Amino acid sequence: MTNSLFNHKPKFNKLPKNPDTGSKGHFPKWLHRKLPKGGTLFDTGNIVNKYKLNTVCEEAKCPNRLECYSKKTATFLALGSACTRSCGFCEIDFSKTPKPLEVDEPERIAASVKELGLKHAVITMVARDDLEDQGASQIARIIREIRKKNSGVTIELLTSDFKGHFASADLVLDEMPEIFNHNIETVRALSPRVRHKATYERTLELLSYVKKQNKVKYVKSGIMVGLGETQNEVEETIQDLKNAGCDIITIGQYLQPSKNKLLVKSFVTPEKFKEYEMFGKKIGVHHMYSGPFVRSSYNAGDVLHG
Ligand code: SF4
Repeated sequence: MTNSLFNHKPKFNKLPKNPDTGSKGHFPKWLHRKLPKGGTLFDTGNIVNKYKLNTVCEEAKCPNRLECYSKKTATFLALGSACTRSCGFCEIDFSKTPKPLEVDEPERIAASVKELGLKHAVITMVARDDLEDQGASQIARIIREIRKKNSGVTIELLTSDFKGHFASADLVLDEMPEIFNHNIETVRALSPRVRHKATYERTLELLSYVKKQNKVKYVKSGIMVGLGETQNEVEETIQDLKNAGCDIITIGQYLQPSKNKLLVKSFVTPEKFKEYEMFGKKIGVHHMYSGPFVRSSYNAGDVLHG
């Protein structure tokens, strides 16, 4: 459920045809963007290291991070650094038996949010299918600690599917995060290959359940494109997410994070991203974020803080 990753190494990719030039082996010009360095990035990295935390922003060397930090937003990766799943697009380490949860993790995240002066904290998690509540009670503690130390901060959760256990989802919903985000990641037909331990239907059921509980301001989900999906399939997915109650949908270009991960099948043009955005808006999705560099938590606080 993490953001797909930016620390791609082009030499690993068997890149598809570049729509710019018609040739293979190069990123199209709209994906050329320099990674930011120094200043705020350095300070943020230091604070995150001081509290021995992981942020998806730093781990993935996300090129959007300077923009996010300047808007006082950062994404923490909770529940350890190893995941009990191994999705085809994700670079997070896999373990059937990850280390036990760290009891002081909630306090460390809350202290880091304070020191960074965040207005909007995004908490994402590895899937902890080994735990009875899939890690939900620890996430609930993290939210409570953040709120205790940081009045006025808004919270977005980017969760696993909790293996479909609504009782676990309830534990985090009871803390009323402003945004509940669970990514569907891809279209129905590609789901078994892209996220073999999750299902398209289970994601829709979870999103729908969360919407009906009416405990969060916004329900959100996201799709990666460039994995071999068709335009019809993407539009069907946007419609399914809308029907499940999503208020916010993100759509971004998939980039292969390392050589053992799924290949990029196509580079989706900025014009096509615009079409997806228009389609979502036409069917009534309030907030559509669609573009090559869009990731789950890119400008995440915008709907709340403008
Ligand atoms: S569930 Fe999949 S996407 Fe989420 S952290 Fe684990 S491997 Fe990555």
